[in-house]
Amino acid sequence: MSDDAQGRRGSVAALAGEALRHLAWLESAGVREVPPPPAPEQLAPSYLGEGAAEGVAPGGRPAADPGPAAPLPAAASLGCGSPELLAIRADIGDCTRCKLAGGRTRLVYGVGNPGAELVFVGEGPGQDEDLQGEPFVGRAGQLLTKMIEAMGFRREDVYIANVVKCRPPGNRNPEPDEIEACEPFLRAQLAAIGPEVIVALGKFAAQTLLRDTTPISRLRGRWFEYGGVKLMPTFHPAYLLRSPQEKKKAWDDLRLVMRELGKPLPPR
Ligand code: URA
Repeated sequence: MSDDAQGRRGSVAALAGEALRHLAWLESAGVREVPPPPAPEQLAPSYLGEGAAEGVAPGGRPAADPGPAAPLPAAASLGCGSPELLAIRADIGDCTRCKLAGGRTRLVYGVGNPGAELVFVGEGPGQDEDLQGEPFVGRAGQLLTKMIEAMGFRREDVYIANVVKCRPPGNRNPEPDEIEACEPFLRAQLAAIGPEVIVALGKFAAQTLLRDTTPISRLRGRWFEYGGVKLMPTFHPAYLLRSPQEKKKAWDDLRLVMRELGKPLPPR
C-alpha cells in the first residue's frame, strides 16, 4: 500500500474511532438520539446505494462536549478490528433506520477476526445477544462455538455476524424492510473482511445473501458464490438444538468447508 493510501486509511480509522467513542460517550450519558447532520446526502457511504442518504444520520453535531476521549466500552467496539470495520460501525451509529431500533438494548455488530478466512452469518440477535452486544452467545451460540472448534478453529479465528443487527421482538423472524435496511452493512462487513468462505446459518442468512427463496433444506450442502467468495449454506444452530437428528447433515456441510480451507478432516 502507498504511503498516501496508508495515511488515508489511518485518518479514516482515527475519525471512525473518534465517532464511535463519541457515540459510546453519548450512550453512557443516557442520550438516545442525536440530531441529524446538516447535509446527510454527503455522508452516505457508497455501499448504501443511491438515495440511501435520506434519513441516514450516523452522528451529527455533538449534543454536548464529550470531553476527553473515554475508553471504548467493550461491546461498542466489538467486531471493529480493522479500520474498514470500524468505519462501517461508525456509519451505522446509533441506528434508527428500521423499527427494530426501538426494541433493542444493544446493537449487535459482529465479533471476531477482521481478516478471518471463514465468516459465519446468522439471522439476528436473540435475547442474550441483545443484552451483551455480541452475536451467538446464547444456547445456539454455544453450539456454534462447538461447531467452530470441531472444525479446528477457535471462535476468535473466525468472524461472526448477522443479517440484522438488532433483536426482532420476541425473537420473531426479521421482516423484509428490516433486512433491507440492515443488509448493506453486512455486505460491507463481508467486503472489508474478504474471507475465503462464508457459512450462511439457516434460511434467512442463506436466502438473503443468495437472493434465493429455495428452502434451506435444499440449499444446504452445496457451494454457491457470493461476490467472488465461496458460500456454504447450512442449518442454523438453533434449529439443530430443536432437531438434533439433523446435526450430521450440518457436520457434512462443515466438512466440505474444512476441505476447502485445507483443514485436516477427522475420520468419520
Ligand atoms: N441467532 C442468530 O441468528 N444470531 C445470533 O446472534 C444469535 C442467535
